This record gives sequence, C-alpha cells and structure tokens, in this order.
Amino acid sequence: MNTTIPDRLLIAGEWAPAASGASEPVRSPWDGHVVGEVAVAGAPDVEAARRAAERGATVWRETPAFARMDVMNRAAALVEGRAEDIAQVLSAENGKTITEARGEVGRAGDMIRLAGYEGTQLYGDTLPLDANRGTGRDKLGFTVRQPCGVVVAITPFNYPSLLVLHKVAPALAAGNSVVLKPARTTPLTALLLAQVFLDAGLPEGVLGVLTGPGAALGDALVSDPRVRKISFTGSTATGRRIASLAGVKKLSLELGASCPVVVLPDADIEAAAAAVALGGYVNAGQVCISVQRVITHPRISADFLDALVPKVAAIQVGDPGAATSQMGTLITASEASRVHAAIQAATEEGASIRTGGALDGATVSPAVIAGVDPRSPLAQEELFGPAVAVSTAADWTAAVAQANGTGYGLGAGIFTSDVSGAVRAVRDIDAGVIHINWTPLWRADLMPYGGLKASGIGKEGFRSAVEEMTEAKTVILHGRPW
Ligand code: NAP
Repeated sequence: MNTTIPDRLLIAGEWAPAASGASEPVRSPWDGHVVGEVAVAGAPDVEAARRAAERGATVWRETPAFARMDVMNRAAALVEGRAEDIAQVLSAENGKTITEARGEVGRAGDMIRLAGYEGTQLYGDTLPLDANRGTGRDKLGFTVRQPCGVVVAITPFNYPSLLVLHKVAPALAAGNSVVLKPARTTPLTALLLAQVFLDAGLPEGVLGVLTGPGAALGDALVSDPRVRKISFTGSTATGRRIASLAGVKKLSLELGASCPVVVLPDADIEAAAAAVALGGYVNAGQVCISVQRVITHPRISADFLDALVPKVAAIQVGDPGAATSQMGTLITASEASRVHAAIQAATEEGASIRTGGALDGATVSPAVIAGVDPRSPLAQEELFGPAVAVSTAADWTAAVAQANGTGYGLGAGIFTSDVSGAVRAVRDIDAGVIHINWTPLWRADLMPYGGLKASGIGKEGFRSAVEEMTEAKTVILHGRPW
C-alpha cells in the first residue's frame, strides 16, 4: 500500500483533528482488525465545515466550466492510479470481496470523467414568448442553470466509493461545494477519494469531509438554511427524518427497496435462475437493487427452484481478501444476526429454506427461501442480506399485485420471451428502473437511476444528477413594443 489514509476531518482544504480531539478505529467486519482511525466530528466541526463550504461555493461557482472539468479529469487519472490501494481499504473496511471492491473502484475514473463532462453541459432553454397572446412578441426569454451552492452529501456503507462519487462528482462538476458525511463503518474510502480531489487541484473549502455518527451530526447538517441541496442515500427511515428536517431546499433521496423479479411461464428458466443467483447475492445482498423476491408462475416454480438452488449453494463464502471468495461478510455481526433472524422468522410462518441461511460471525450463507407469504416481513421489509424469497402467482394480475405490493419501488426485473409481456411489465410495475430479461441488479453509472414510492425522490446518473445539483433561473429581456 503506497497511499496514506487520511485520519482527520477535511475542513477548508486542511486535514484537521476533531475540535474535541475524539477519534475512533474502523474495524474489518471479517476479523476485527483495525483498518484505520478516523476523527469523530462534533457540532463545532459541522459549523467550521459549513463556513468553509460557503466560501468554497463562491470560489468554485466563479471557476469556468472548462477549468472545473480539468480538475475532474486530473482526479479521474489520479483515482485510476490509486485504484488498487483504494480497493484494498474498501474491502477491508466493508467486508466485500477484493474482487467486488476492485470492480467498484474500477468504475471511479470514468464516473468522475462523465460527471466532469456533464458539468460543461449546463444548457438552458429558449422560451417561445410570442406564443403568450398579446404581450410576448417584443421580449426574449431563456433559462440559465447555476450551481445550488453548498451541497450536503450523506452516503451509506454498502458502496463506499460508488455512492460517494455519485454525489460528490456531479455536485463538484456542476460548480457546488460539498460537505460529505460518509457512513461511520466505511469512512476510509471516502477520505482516500477526498485526497484524490485535493491532489487534483480542487480549491480550498470546495470539498469537506466530516466523519462520525450520522445520528449526532445529521440534524445540524440537513436543517441549516445555508445548505441549498441535500443528496442522501441510505435507509428509508433516515430519509424520512432528513425530509422532515430539511425545510425548503432541494432534496434527492435514494432509499431502501424490496426488489421483485417476475418469471413468466414462457421465460428461459435457466437464464432467469443464473441471473437471480447473481442478482440476489452480490455484495452479500447488501445492495438497494438486490433481488429480494422472485414471483414465479406455479407451472414453472419447481423447475426454477431446481435451477436456482445449486447455483446459490455453489457461491464461495470466505475471507474478503482472498481471490477465491465470491461473497464476504455483512457490514457487522449484528446485521448478520438480524438477517439470520428474518430468515428464521419466515420459516416459522411456513416458508422452507432450500439452501443456506447459516450464521457465522458477520457472514450468512447465501439462502433461497421457498413458499414465502408475500405479506410476510421477509417480502415486505428490506432484507439487505444474501437471501431470495420465492413465491408463486397464478396469473399476471396476481403477479403485478405481488410485485407492487410493498411500500417500495426502486428496481424490478421480468423474464419472458414474449415482447407483449415485457410491454405490460413496463406499464404495470411500479419501479424506477425496470429490466427485461435481467434482474434489477444492473446499473450503468450514466443512466437515470432512482426510486418511486418509499424508495426515494429524484434521479442520479450524471446528466440527471447534474441537473438536480443546479437551479434554473428564467431571464426575460423586455424590448420596446413595436
Ligand atoms: P442508514 O443507516 O440510513 O445510513 C446512511 C447514512 O446516513 C450514513 O452515513 C449514516 O451515518 C447517516 N445517518 C444516520 N442517521 C442520520 C440522521 N439522523 N441524519 C442524517 N444522516 C444520518 O443506511 P445504511 O444502513 O448505511 O445503508 C443501507 C440503506 O441504504 C439500505 O436501506 C439501502 O437500500 C439504502 N441504499 C439505497 C440506495 C439507492 O440508490 N436507492 C443505494 C444504496 C443503499 P452513520 O453511518 O454514521 O450512522
């Protein structure tokens, strides 16, 4: 490892200890070893970061778009040069396999570049004011897009590089300053990414990072009127709290889910099973777009389970640092216990475990649970663990009712060989992203991405995110009547 992990807060372009002097270790969920030490921010640090971000916002919005893009392009090159070091830290603090961590960090360079480009594309509209009867002919109207100002970005533990960059990169590209609060369990990756932007030449105060407990720092961060935009990814419960405190400011919320996959009788069963054996277990199921529920037609349900179970049973669980491991730990042993208990509770309601579901420290072996009641907590509540619940629905109406029958609406998949089934799915299923012949677990970083219902508000993906990180002004030039 050639890169030093910053162990302090980033405020006004400097790495500084918390005002209180407090710090805490970040531990590997696999074996408990200390991966790094971080400062624990408190109220004075929140205030200092916000003041610095206000100054940074003024400097950065005056920086021309081409110069912002130059910084982004330098950051993209730097992150690619440091990718292996960042992936090692990410795997160690998060418990995902080193292969998964390399895949995640491997996207970072292009993410920063794509966001940087979108920051140069802040087009407005011309307004056809002569269509306004009588009073518009002697005027010209257009819109201009400008950065919001200070953006607060709050990120979860499950993709410590990807989800930080889905906020920080478009916010910076659009000309905002950012105060980032990464998850308490995975702050080290965020600190390494912040160092990348500093080394790329980001001016002082344009990016700040506060590490520490979200429950203590969050209220002050999100309720401050000097913050003009909040971009949050995390649980629906935290999202609701933030929405209730934010007041009048722009808000993007990427929240929880219980994503369904519908397998119609005309589907390629083998292909559907292979996709679910991936889409339910990547990152130990700790993905908002993980497959949580599979709804099959009764005629093909047994064949689907026969195809799925051996594939899931073959997933190698082990040391996240080992190249042979296909699945690592959950984020903590207590999260693993929660997931294990949810699986056990489903069996007490009549479902049957076809494979997996064993608890060992912070790991849960990949599980397939058949005969799950769609109204049960295993279907209704976000599991965020390596288990897929399989149920049946006798016809399309029943399948749609099940697919839409939770409070969430993030992603959905449908397997069918009939284009009519695909068209109906797109129209009928309530999800922000719908995949035909694949599971919800697929994302191109440039595509519009976000949930419906309790899964959130707004879209990420760089074009959408840059739009959400900017505000439109309408300008009218009043000529003399002629
Ligand atoms: P979480 O507990 O809601 O935490 C997310 C972030 O919010 C963390 O940085 C956390 O800080 C912070 N936080 C906690 N309480 C807060 C408060 N009162 N005010 C402001 N911030 C606060 O979520 P998680 O367990 O880390 O992540 C898993 C969740 O994220 C799942 O529900 C998953 O579906 C969702 N997710 C959604 C998407 C999407 O695109 N829709 C993507 C990924 C994950 P601490 O870590 O210090 O508590």
